[in-house]
Amino acid sequence: MGEEPRSVEVAGHRLVCPICGADRFTQGRSLLNTRGLTFLRLDWANREADNYICASCGHILWFLPSPEGQAI
Ligand SMILES: [Zn+2]
Repeated sequence: MGEEPRSVEVAGHRLVCPICGADRFTQGRSLLNTRGLTFLRLDWANREADNYICASCGHILWFLPSPEGQAI
């Protein structure tokens, strides 16, 4: 069940890879574990995070849910 890379919008902005400039990403979702979050000092966000994998270079962009809730 391969996902097609697609363009992505985050907070009204088209996502563009900062490494290679491509605009096609495969979406993933990861459950962040407490140990990793503690290490990163992000205990408030102990839940799922969206990630987008650049279809061109493989760079992964992570987006944590806002601690105050999504603006949209
Ligand atoms: Zn890229």
